[in-house]
Amino acid sequence: MSFRDLGLSDDVIRGVQAMGYVEPTPIQLRAFPVILGGKDLIGSAQTGTGKTAAFALPILTKLGRHGACRCLVLEPTRELAAQVDTAFRDYARYTDLRISVIHGGVGYGKQRQEVKDGLDVVVATPGRLLDHLGEGTLSLKQTNILVLDEVDRMLDMGFLPDVRRIIEQVPKERQTLFFSATLPPEIEGLTKWVLRNPEIIEIGVRRSAAETVTHALYPVARDQKFDLLLALLERTNFDSALIFSRTKHGADKIAGRLKVAQHSVAVLHSNRTQRERVEALEGFKSGKYEVMVATDIAARGIDVAGVSHVINYDVPQHPEDYVHRIGRTGRAQNVGDAFTLVTAEELDAVRAIERFVGQKIPRLKVDNFNYVYTALFNEEGIAPGGVGKGARTHRGYSFGRRRR
Ligand code: AMP
Repeated sequence: MSFRDLGLSDDVIRGVQAMGYVEPTPIQLRAFPVILGGKDLIGSAQTGTGKTAAFALPILTKLGRHGACRCLVLEPTRELAAQVDTAFRDYARYTDLRISVIHGGVGYGKQRQEVKDGLDVVVATPGRLLDHLGEGTLSLKQTNILVLDEVDRMLDMGFLPDVRRIIEQVPKERQTLFFSATLPPEIEGLTKWVLRNPEIIEIGVRRSAAETVTHALYPVARDQKFDLLLALLERTNFDSALIFSRTKHGADKIAGRLKVAQHSVAVLHSNRTQRERVEALEGFKSGKYEVMVATDIAARGIDVAGVSHVINYDVPQHPEDYVHRIGRTGRAQNVGDAFTLVTAEELDAVRAIERFVGQKIPRLKVDNFNYVYTALFNEEGIAPGGVGKGARTHRGYSFGRRRR
């Protein structure tokens, strides 16, 4: 099935072709008819499945020509909002539709001006959007397509009250598209309030970690965590590594120490200015930085093609975060590796992850690393040098980094 057969407008198809997409992804195939048919939708899908185009292409087709502000897309983070805005603009390049992004961390002036000049689609984060609604710059009275994206992350970030206040300002006569990788009870309540007879599409829900990712745990004493990270980086032939830290302070500290060890490092977390965040992400994407240290929230959903390795410096507290984090690698069928450093205190969190993904994750040791003893080594199944099923051994890697 090609994009031509799915009811998209010619101008939108030209935009898609310019992006080099050849055929629709599974979620696109299933979402297009629902959205074009005017129905509400719950999509349980993650980024990486082609989710953005799944809603953007039929929305642009429905909007047709420039008019009033008829579509609002809510995103949990600035980075995601910017990414979705860019995708919309790319797909709309052969139309006269106007798309803009509204998020915090930057001035109000440009946003006010763009709203004044006239927009068809607004992609926004909740806080700044409420500011504009409060000051009357923007009205949602003509909005008849509402997209709530990454709703589970909005919940995690405490945005649901803001989201509710925003939805109250959108006319009830509308089409609502709702995307969330998971549907905890709080979110199910919201779906009942915002959606009418929704179609449910579950695609690419990777309860288990992406199949293309080989993942492994590296037990280590707490005092040796950073040294083991260095050893892993040094012995792994990586193109680009995304390192997750549980806290912002931790991320800064890891980055500082990696710099001392001569790595080129970017840092991404919510205490950094918008300018710093954009610079970090752009630098990481372009290869200026070979390593990026990030907190979960900042890195959620970010599309960085070609992340070859994800390293969890801390074990994620929520099992879903493990799946999200390692979903950054192994995108679009590239094989990636996900390493998780584990200390004895984190064993319960590891067990929760293993229950969630329904498999035991191999424990590996790095060859020739001067380990101090930790009780974790009494656990069964630790493979010295790494012979765990599904994980390549560190002997298998060529030594030294591939520098770009
Ligand atoms: P998303 O799930 O929206 O984050 O998209 C993940 C990546 O897939 C993005 O880099 C998109 O540009 C890309 N993509 C989306 N749809 C297609 C398609 N039909 N063919 C090839 N790539 C696509």
